[in-house]
Amino acid sequence: MKQLATRAITYLVVALLFVCAVRFTPELPERPAAGVLRSPVSTHIDSAAAMLAAPAPLLSRTERLERGETLIGLLKRTGISEESARALVRAATASAVDTRYLRAGMSVEVTADSAGESPRELVFHLGVDRLLRMVRSDSGWTGTEEKLAWKTDTVVVGGTIRASLYQAIDSSATPYFPGRAKDELAWALADIFEYRVDMSRDLQQGDRFRALVERLVAPTGATRMSKVLAASFTLSGSEVSAFRFDSKYGKPSYYDATGKSLRAQFLRAPLEFRRVSSTFGMRFHPILGRWKAHKGTDYAASAGTPVRAVGDAVVERAGWAGGYGNVLQLRHRNGYVTRYGHLRGFAKGIRAGARVEIGQTVAYVGTTGLSTAPHLHFEVLVGGVQRDSRAALRSISGVPIEGSERSAFESLREQLLASLDATPGVVRLALR
Ligand SMILES: [Zn+2]
Repeated sequence: MKQLATRAITYLVVALLFVCAVRFTPELPERPAAGVLRSPVSTHIDSAAAMLAAPAPLLSRTERLERGETLIGLLKRTGISEESARALVRAATASAVDTRYLRAGMSVEVTADSAGESPRELVFHLGVDRLLRMVRSDSGWTGTEEKLAWKTDTVVVGGTIRASLYQAIDSSATPYFPGRAKDELAWALADIFEYRVDMSRDLQQGDRFRALVERLVAPTGATRMSKVLAASFTLSGSEVSAFRFDSKYGKPSYYDATGKSLRAQFLRAPLEFRRVSSTFGMRFHPILGRWKAHKGTDYAASAGTPVRAVGDAVVERAGWAGGYGNVLQLRHRNGYVTRYGHLRGFAKGIRAGARVEIGQTVAYVGTTGLSTAPHLHFEVLVGGVQRDSRAALRSISGVPIEGSERSAFESLREQLLASLDATPGVVRLALR
């Protein structure tokens, strides 16, 4: 009897010591960057008796692979023995990890007992949507690769133009479209409005934009642009809108508020917005003094950038012409001619008499003739007279939506408009 009591007291003392150890063990302080992510088993213990039955508490933390570090190095850093680390890396390699392609910064979640010596589970974050979960059992480590689902949601962004579309998106959409997704959004908007707005030229300080955008979000927070559902620009007080509508008669495309396709006879710019150097802006004028009075428009872009035909046309001229250097002249319908100067060269098959389609690559940006830096000199002539391309290429005549689809379009437009007017942020969208 006395022996039993002694044993009970011993148990109790051991248990209390253990509780103290758990409670006061610092949270794996080796690296300031690493943090305790979660404790799958609660470390909160109510009584010593409960402790006797409960398994040892587990702790998780995240480590990041450092530049030049091996996986074994990282694992040893977490307190795993060299031998277990090697066994683990062997198993991980057999499962999915190609150690040759591990990137610095890859995070590894390690779940181990409180002393950190005996790991139970490791999660390798192989990519934004891919992870490898290694679980230890009596027979060793087994790995399962998991594909993480991207979530789709819808966001309203809106802002005011101060310097450029990039700047406006940067200052208003960054929380929702981090990193490259921001540029993708700018390019998508430029593409949607490419028949109506030259995003590198037409925006003025104080102009505004709004967009209702579907995006993909990975569990890691990585974000991708999916598609623009609706957008509007208020340019010098006048509004141009775009609504994405999936017509039975073609691919989903964009229509303005009146139901006319945004497609038109001419593209507003001979270079894709994403190709135009934003650094030069409106002030850039690389031509010598005597060219200052010209009615053309200059687009700064790197040499070799593809130049596109702004409309269906026949090539009128493709060759050298003094100050223009290599110049291309296209004849369109209704007496319109477009001229592209300082070209490095012409696209394959471009010669006088050749037919070209709207958007087709016809030449490449260069700095031939009277030019001091690579740029495209672009002119529009109507009836032989130089015109301001901004005015000359302005067209609002798109093909109207089919009569049979009109009511479907209008009800979609109303729903999109209501969402577009919502406070910027993630919105709930109940379409169809
Ligand atoms: Zn020029």
